[in-house]
Order: sequence, then structure tokens, then C-alpha cells
Amino acid sequence: MATEKTPEKHEFQTEVRELLQLMIHSLYSHKEIFLRELVSNAADALDKVRFEAISKPELISENPELRIDIKVSEETKTIVIEDSGVGMTHQELMDNLGTIARSGTKAFMKNLGAGAKNDVNLIGQFGVGFYSVFMVAHKVEVLTRKAGSEEAWLWTSEGTGDYELASSEKATRGTQITIYLKDEDDCKEYASEWKLRSIVQKYSEFITHPIWLQGAKEPERLNDKTALWRRSAKEVTDEQHHEFYRQIASEHQSDPIAWSHTHTEGTQEFWSLVYIPSKAPFNLFSAERTHGLKLYVKRVFIMDDSKELLPTWLRFVRGVVDSEDLPLNVSRELLQNNKVIANIKKHLVKKTLETLQNLADNKPEEYAKFWKELGLVLKEGFYMNWEWLVELKSLLRFNSTFVGTDQLTSLKDYVGRMKENQKDIYYITGENLSAIQTSPHLEAFKAKGFEVLFMNDPVDEFMMNGLQDFDGKTFKDITRGDVELEKTEDEMKAEDQATKDYAGLCKALAAALPELDSVKVSSRLKDSPCCLTRKEDAMSSQMERIMAQMGNAGAPKSKRILEINADHPICKNLQKKADAGESLGEWPTVLFGQSLLAEGSPLSNPGAYVAAVTKLLS
Ligand code: ADP
Repeated sequence: MATEKTPEKHEFQTEVRELLQLMIHSLYSHKEIFLRELVSNAADALDKVRFEAISKPELISENPELRIDIKVSEETKTIVIEDSGVGMTHQELMDNLGTIARSGTKAFMKNLGAGAKNDVNLIGQFGVGFYSVFMVAHKVEVLTRKAGSEEAWLWTSEGTGDYELASSEKATRGTQITIYLKDEDDCKEYASEWKLRSIVQKYSEFITHPIWLQGAKEPERLNDKTALWRRSAKEVTDEQHHEFYRQIASEHQSDPIAWSHTHTEGTQEFWSLVYIPSKAPFNLFSAERTHGLKLYVKRVFIMDDSKELLPTWLRFVRGVVDSEDLPLNVSRELLQNNKVIANIKKHLVKKTLETLQNLADNKPEEYAKFWKELGLVLKEGFYMNWEWLVELKSLLRFNSTFVGTDQLTSLKDYVGRMKENQKDIYYITGENLSAIQTSPHLEAFKAKGFEVLFMNDPVDEFMMNGLQDFDGKTFKDITRGDVELEKTEDEMKAEDQATKDYAGLCKALAAALPELDSVKVSSRLKDSPCCLTRKEDAMSSQMERIMAQMGNAGAPKSKRILEINADHPICKNLQKKADAGESLGEWPTVLFGQSLLAEGSPLSNPGAYVAAVTKLLS
């Protein structure tokens, strides 16, 4: 390779140096993934040039063939991987092979920084890209010529602190990577046609560009021509799906939990393949999160991360859509108001929800695993859409007083267990499951045998706005004032009587606790002396905490109602005091404080509460 001028020396960015250190010294046993990374980079480069050539055909007119060639020499222990892709300019070489731009790699490094330095398995988990080649190479050369440019550049590095860039020559566009294998046994073994063939077939079977092994005897095509999604669904095996998923989802550790593969014909023709992951993608809730669908038009890759194809509440789905009807020069802007896209989106949502429903019906344990990982995202669907509520409701799962906190129930099963005299679906919200489980509000419901659903995800509050009803039944928050509890006539009479008998105590408590809306006798308590409820239209305590976390601490808090248990000895005693006109002393502060603590709410004045309890105890 002729170099005309003195090469420039450049230092790697610190993170790259750290990553390289790790690569070079790692004992990771799956070093072969370097080939997967390089071949998929080559395929991406081919996709890019094919896409750019749609508007600028001259980019590929001199050499229209898009392909990957691999050559190996057992003698010199070198591997050459060449693509006729988009190539790189001098600046791109510096940006791409000198720094870390990818969020995935940054997250990977951060993870290692967090004490997992020796966990080499992480290497396989993230697609760590080009730099993985230094697991097997003592030197790497990248000769590249950008499509549409005459200039070629040679990048050379030994994977230590720096790399060299030299002006060079290359007859055609694209990139040629030469790998000088290390002399160790587990590196030089890759200098074998047999070995390379088996690795490419294992990892790169579904790359849609031809991959050729330039063998010593004759060239050999290593991959199939038909894109996996264009094959008939019946022909594709589970193993092929797993492998394909690993490739498109950059997820190398876990298999998809379910998938749907369809071919639609009629007014429109498209192929779709959607996978439901078994693990939540690591950036699901970060601003850098990506949607997982790749869009192809007439087999030509158009774009990753197509947000227009699925709603955000299905952003965990990975897959491919290939349309025959969209124009090849489709842009992101064009996708936004496009009828073809709207139709495909509808199809994809339907197929995804059907796939999940199928899993829930036929493999409930698998579904429970999915729910734990990704249920939170599905719940977002309730405040972001009106179209798919029926399907979404049937996918919801909850812990409850009946199934406990290890099992999950569907709404349908809940309704199946409802008591004859039960009209509504009851739920309780709270910060965490343990506070919810021991909440005084549950006492009467347990006594009556009414099941209560637990809602402890912050998003549950928002979800409830969209949920509203199920099977004609209304949802009722049991921490609110007007829950009826389907009282019998005797119970009503007893409550009326208690209300009269305890009028004095209620009045005295209300006078001592002006922060309350009111005090009243309740039949919802069995073991606890009192609890706090709120009016039907007031903000819940869970929501108040969320508002405070979002920086709205000053938002007006709704006044609470203190409900007291007429059968409780404390209340009986206090009633006597109130009737005798005696002071209730520390008791109002203590009862109010306990009620707040029991629901997981903070005390507005912990010092006063502690002082009151201490005084009472002594
Ligand atoms: P990733 O491919 O995940 O972005 P890599 O470290 O493997 O991460 O590659 C970094 C970048 O280098 C790529 O995004 C691409 O822009 C560029 N690159 C790598 N290989 C090639 C190639 N064969 N042709 C053109 N560009 C390439």
C-alpha cells in the first residue's frame, strides 16, 4: 500500500483506550464475535451507499455491485474483509475509529466502570463493534475510499494508545480491513477458511448482501439470497428466528419470547416480522431510547429506529417491515403523514398485541416474565391512545389481595372471582407493595372477601385515567371517601348509630386537626383505630408524591378525611373523654401521624409526632 506522505499520528479518546485495554487483555472465550461485528459494519456500509444512490445514482455507477468479500491466508495469518460500501472520509475515520460515539458503547463502558471490570461476558452482551477486532489482532489496517471521492486513506493501529492515518490509494469505493492475527493459539486459529465459513454462517446468515469467501480454490457464496422476512413463515425455524433477532436487535444474550411473521397482500403489500424481547432493552426509559423497527422498501434498507411504525408504548418491539408500496426515496418527514405507513402501523400494533395475548393465553408463565420486564411500558398505552384499550385491558396483570405479591391476576380472572354483591372493581394505590399490603384500608375488604388490586407503579395513576372500566364495571380506589362496600341493612343501621354516638369525638378531633377536611365514623376498618381517605375527585397521595418529585411541591394538597373505627378500644376511650368534655391531649396528633405512616406518606412535622408519642408512652 503506497503511502505518499508521512503518516499523521492520532491519540485514541480515553474511553477508546480503556475499551481497547479490555479487549486486548480479555479472556473472553467468544473472540469470534469480531467477525460478526466487522461483517455487520460492512453490511451497514452497503446499506448506506445503496440508500444514498437512490438520489445520486452516480455514486455506484462505476461499480454497481454491492458485496462483501473475505479472504484469508493461513501462511501470513491475515484476514481481509472488503466491502463496496459507502467508505469513510478522513474526518469520518477519525470520528468513527478514534472515538466512541455510540450510546450503547458508552453504557457498556459505564457498566464496566461500576465494578464489573472482570465480567468479560458483558462483551458479548453489547455489540462493542469494530474495536473487538483487537481481541485477535496485533495490528489492523483500514483502507477506505468514500463513495463519490477520489481520495483514499489508510488507518493503521496496534490497538494501543494511538493510530496512524496516511493518504493512500484505492481503485474503487468502499473499505478493506486487513487483520494481522496474534500468534496465540486462540487467535491464529481464525486464519482458516473452514473456521471463517462456519462463523459467518452462524452469525451473518441473514445479511441481505452477498458475502463471498475468496477461497484458495474458488470463490464461495456464504449466505442465502432471500431475506428472512420474505421467506414463507412456515419455512423459518425457531433457531433461525433466534439468530436473526440477535442480529437485528443487537441483543446477544437472550432470545425473543414470541414473534409474529406476516405477509400482507391486497391494496398494499408488505412483509413484517416483529419480535417481543424477553429482556427489557437497557435504554428503555432513557432519552436516547430507540425504537426497534427497521424499515425496508422493496428489500432496500431505508432506516433504523422508525418511530412512525409503532407507538411509543410498544417501543420494546424489535423487527423488520418491508413495503412494496412506499417510494424508495421516502424520508422521515414523509413517513409522518403517510397512508401506507398508517396502515402498516395499525397492522403491526394488532399483530404485536395478538402475539402478546396468545402468549398470555397459552404460556401464562412466560407472559408473567414478559410482564415483569415490560408491563410498565404497556401501561403507558392507557394514557397515550384510545384505539387499543380493549386489547390492552386484557393484557394487564396485577398483584392483589387474592393472588398475593408473587402471582399475577388478569382483570377477567378478577371479575370471575367477584362476589355476588360486589358491583365495582377495587384497587389500592401506594408507594410500594409492603405499604399497600398492610394498609388499614384493606381491612374491611378482606373481611368481606372482596379482592383488591395492588397498584404500586407510579404510572398506574396515569393508567387509571385511561382504564376507567372493565366488563361494564367501574374501578374504585379504596382510599377514597365514597367506596360503598355493599353494606347490609344491619351494617348500615350500626353505622348510623355509631355516627350518632361518636359525634362528640368526631367534633373534638376535627377541632384539634384543622388540616383535615372532616372526621367521620367508618365501617371500612377492622383492626386499626383510624385511616385517612380523600374525596372522590381529589388527587391521590401517590399522585401528590409524583407531583412533588416532578418539582411541583407547592401544588395545593387536597384536604384529607380522617375515618375512625367505632369498635376500636382507643376510639371507645376517646369517645368517653370527649363526652366528658376532657382534652384529648396527644391523641389527635398521634392518630393522624399513624394514619399517614400507614399509607406510606411523609409526616408534615415528624418532631411533633415523636414528641406526642413519647409523651403518651411515658
Ligand atoms: P457501530 O457499527 O455499532 O456504530 P463500530 O465501532 O463497529 O460501531 O463502528 C463505528 C463506526 O465506524 C460505524 O458506525 C461506521 O460509521 C464506521 N464504520 C465501521 N466499519 C465501516 C465500514 N466497513 N465502512 C464504512 N464505515 C464503517
